[in-house]
Amino acid sequence: MKIQAINGFKDILPDEVTRWQHIEQVTRDIFHRFNFKEIRLPILEETQLFARSIGQSTDIVEKEMYSFTDKGITMRPEATASLLRAFIEHGMHVQQPVHKLYTIGPMFRHERPQKGRLRQFHQLDAEIIGAVEPEVDAELMAMGQLLLAELGLEASLEVNSLGCPQCRPAFRQKLVDYLEKYTDQLCGDCRRRISTNPLRVLDCKNPNCRELVNDAPSILDALCTDCDEHFARVRSSLDLLGVTYTPNPLMVRGLDYYTRTTFEFIARNLGAQSAVGAGGRYDGLIEELGGPKLSGIGFAMGIERLVLLLQEKDKSESAPRNQVDIFIAALGDQATLKCFQLAHLLRKTGIRAGMDYSGRSLKAQMKLAGRLGARFTLIVGDQELQEKKAGLRNMQDQSQEDFSLHQTPEETARNLKTIITESLPVNERPDFTRRQI
Ligand code: ATP
Ligand code: MG
Repeated sequence: MKIQAINGFKDILPDEVTRWQHIEQVTRDIFHRFNFKEIRLPILEETQLFARSIGQSTDIVEKEMYSFTDKGITMRPEATASLLRAFIEHGMHVQQPVHKLYTIGPMFRHERPQKGRLRQFHQLDAEIIGAVEPEVDAELMAMGQLLLAELGLEASLEVNSLGCPQCRPAFRQKLVDYLEKYTDQLCGDCRRRISTNPLRVLDCKNPNCRELVNDAPSILDALCTDCDEHFARVRSSLDLLGVTYTPNPLMVRGLDYYTRTTFEFIARNLGAQSAVGAGGRYDGLIEELGGPKLSGIGFAMGIERLVLLLQEKDKSESAPRNQVDIFIAALGDQATLKCFQLAHLLRKTGIRAGMDYSGRSLKAQMKLAGRLGARFTLIVGDQELQEKKAGLRNMQDQSQEDFSLHQTPEETARNLKTIITESLPVNERPDFTRRQI
């Protein structure tokens, strides 16, 4: 019997991992510039944590969680709840007033797998705890947009306010009154949502429901003075930072804990799964989970969807990839041993070196060097070794020069390192300063 990966759970193969590493590297770089610190969290939590935070009548809690029902634990479907649980548990609020935290890792939801939608997927998650000012909302969205921009991706930002416990109940009632007039025209899910979670009707994907909610009362007309002012300042702060956005009063998000600002980054090339990232403010949640009375706001980006977008982009740009700086082609037993040693010394100095031990022909080895995207190939045969010389081929222009082996292996490695480094544009030169042999 052939055993395969479970539907919705995907292997990330080495060629693709390069993109994942790039995304993670850019993310960390940007998040650190905004003074975020990393936190690493467990995958399993008490089921109660998600039921209480995400909300009992949300799709995630109702039907998408992977739970061990006999043990009362669940594989996290998102990161915010776990992060806040840890924040409260470790009394982190006593250390300083505002915390900026991020985490990267897998999440689990039992959804129907399709392009950009998996059952194990991965998120980059950033949260700011302890700040209520609208500038913070704008800063966080600006950080998300910068991340997409530095990855070379385009996405639009949609922003809404969901009000607060002061103004939302009245809006909810107004919406229910409106929806009840059209019950028979709504989809089955939405008919149920009228009593459980009426705001969710606003972002139903069913064309009939969409048509109906276009004329529904708008949350932005129902905000209390404080929420209205907060939202106005979020918008003016975004303007100040030069972040372009579109207000979308129909965006409600699938998690109950949001208050005031919510937002989504929407990409054009993702088809049905167009949201690449999303987030919002959750001002009552920390207290709800038994913590101090602190505000919070955060967002999560889906790494799989970022990867899809980068793949699309690479198709049009076809960037060359260098897996090694130098390939060493050895011909003959003596040469192989010499090169074996040289490759290791090069790696110790920080150079990415490739080699093949199987005694293939020069032609086969040159092909391998090409496949690895080597910048140089050093060609050493037994005969040349006697004469202490080798050939150094520049793989970009295919020019070849003699390279003298009249040195100790360490000197040879150092010389090659200098040649390789100097062949690179200054901004692409690796930082070798600490690696000496
Ligand atoms: P969607 O509308 O696509 O279902 P969502 O509102 O459920 O997204 P969030 O819970 O806000 O998404 O998660 C934030 C991001 O995580 C999404 O924008 C998306 O990029 C990613 N994401 C969510 N669910 C999945 C999934 N099942 N597979 C892959 N990525 C996902
Ligand atoms: Mg979803």
